Parts: sequence; structure tokens; C-alpha cells
Amino acid sequence: MDKKTVVLVAHDAKKKDMLEWAGYNKGSLSSHNLYSTKNTGTAINRETGLQVNLLKSGPLGGDSQIGTMIVEEKVDALIFFWDPLSPQPHDVDVKALLRLAVLYDVPIACNRATADYLISSPLFVREKKVGSVSDTNILYE
Ligand code: PGA
Repeated sequence: MDKKTVVLVAHDAKKKDMLEWAGYNKGSLSSHNLYSTKNTGTAINRETGLQVNLLKSGPLGGDSQIGTMIVEEKVDALIFFWDPLSPQPHDVDVKALLRLAVLYDVPIACNRATADYLISSPLFVREKKVGSVSDTNILYE
């Protein structure tokens, strides 16, 4: 099976959801490279024992770090439980991250239902696709 790079992020109001979801899917997640913003990843590690590479906290630039990883084509899936009910100080970073994920055709799950579909998809364990946005983006380089 292909080892993927999976990024897990949850805003504060959604961290409980993320911890439940990551705990439930611990078996699948443990065979991939996991990255998280600091507080999300620390909580996942504490609650589930999963090894998570920690980026900066979201409001301190973690979302932008993930955006950079996407541009460098290092992200295979983004599980991003953002909070639709509270304003975020780093709203522009969140928007930029979602834009880059769409631009680079990275699968994004923004709630548990979609995350369930994503992780249980046969495509999730398939070999990495060839050809990507870098082919279409050549115009912009
Ligand atoms: P955190 O950041 O995991 O450090 O809380 C998440 C975010 O707000 O994007």
C-alpha cells in the first residue's frame, strides 16, 4: 500500500470531533505520515498515541505551512475540520489553505462525514496519481 501524507487540522470547537474521528480511524491512519498544526497534533497524539509531525499552531502560521507543503506537492489528503460558527484570527490563512488545496487537487474533508468517505475510499490506498496541477500550472511558472 502507498504511504500517504495526511494532514489533520481542527479548529478549537472541532477538536473533539477530530479526536473521535482520529481515534476511530487510528488503524488506517497509523500506516501514513501524519502532519498537524500544533494543538491538533498534540491532542491527537495524547488521545490516540498516533505519531504526528507537528507544524506551528494554525493562528501562528501552521495553515500557511500546510499551504506550502501543498504547493510543493507533499500533501495527499487534508482533513480540516474548520469551525463554521466562529470568526478566526487567521481567517485569511484558512481561506488561502482551502484555495491551494482546491488548486492542487488535494482531497479535502471539512467534516466527519466527508472524512469517513475519504478514508474508506479505495482510492485512498491506491498508488499516487501521476500528473497534477503542475502540468496545468506550467502556464503560470
Ligand atoms: P491548532 O491550529 O491545531 O494549533 O489549534 C488549528 C487552527 O486553528 O488552524
